[in-house]
Amino acid sequence: MKNGATKEQIEAVIKRVEELGMKAHPVYGEQKTIIGCIGNEDILRAHPVEPYEGVESVQAITKPFKLASRDFKKEDTVIEVKGIKIGGGNFVVMAGPCSVEGKDMLFETAKKASEAGARVLRGGAFKPRTSPYDFQGLGEEGLRYLQEAAKEYNMAVVTEIMDAREIDLIDKYSDMFQIGARNMQNFSLLKEVGKSRKPVVLKRGMAATVKDLLMAAEYIMSEGNGNVILCERGIRTFETYTRNTIDMNIIPSAKELSHLPIILDPSHGTGKRSLVTPLALSGLVAGADGIMIEVHPKPEVALSDGPQSLRFNEFDDLMEKVKKYLEFENRRLG
Ligand code: PEP
Ligand code: MN
Repeated sequence: MKNGATKEQIEAVIKRVEELGMKAHPVYGEQKTIIGCIGNEDILRAHPVEPYEGVESVQAITKPFKLASRDFKKEDTVIEVKGIKIGGGNFVVMAGPCSVEGKDMLFETAKKASEAGARVLRGGAFKPRTSPYDFQGLGEEGLRYLQEAAKEYNMAVVTEIMDAREIDLIDKYSDMFQIGARNMQNFSLLKEVGKSRKPVVLKRGMAATVKDLLMAAEYIMSEGNGNVILCERGIRTFETYTRNTIDMNIIPSAKELSHLPIILDPSHGTGKRSLVTPLALSGLVAGADGIMIEVHPKPEVALSDGPQSLRFNEFDDLMEKVKKYLEFENRRLG
């Protein structure tokens, strides 16, 4: 729509698009409103909407991902959750244990992480473990601790949803959903979180291309939830020294292709504590909109991912560096 198109003009176009049997996805920007029209392109050729008042132009998006595409929306998407901004120059730090193991360890971690500048508390209550005999998470009890600790330390909660049947439960206790790497193409789960308006951290599958990741984002967005945060967490390669290989290419690539924010998880990306800080900073410089870091009071006894979890003092050092780099780049903590 043209700059300054009226509400009535916008609504008339949405109504027309829907009458024609297409799905309308309006994005209300500060200057411009864009109306994504999902459906068969031929319809708009046969019944043009250009003559409608307030319409600036009609453009076909040729990429398979439409709503996620930079062609559809030029400006960076900024996602807001509990006053925390993610994207468009706002850098978010999500930190916490791999799994919520108990109340004390979680409160202690939340305290230290928030003091150092993390605004989002991470932690799994339902864990996707490779072995069914490994610790599976505390379930609802863990969610309760996350909510309480976040309240105490003024943070937002992100936690993984593994099963669409748990959506109401996780919705009740969290501020953001996390879709794990193993579920990136669980399309029924993507559709389910798409029906919510809560932000979704969508982690890249271990063998997913950037296009696969953006198509997964499209699943969520096509249900009406545009609040998707992409996350690089390393992919499988022939390398075995590290747990995964971080594909740093994807950060600027995703930014070229999409307006969505993208964050980096160097904890799962490397699997090694000593590599987390250098890779986190590399991600920042590559243009990531944030980092997700595993932190544990005593990684030696962690029930999951101890070898990649930072100690508190290591997290403090990382955050000092993050702040300096952000200052240099004229960016800020979200
Ligand atoms: C996690 O962040 O807790 C996790 C399981 O990560 P991923 O899905 O990337 O393996
Ligand atoms: Mn983990």
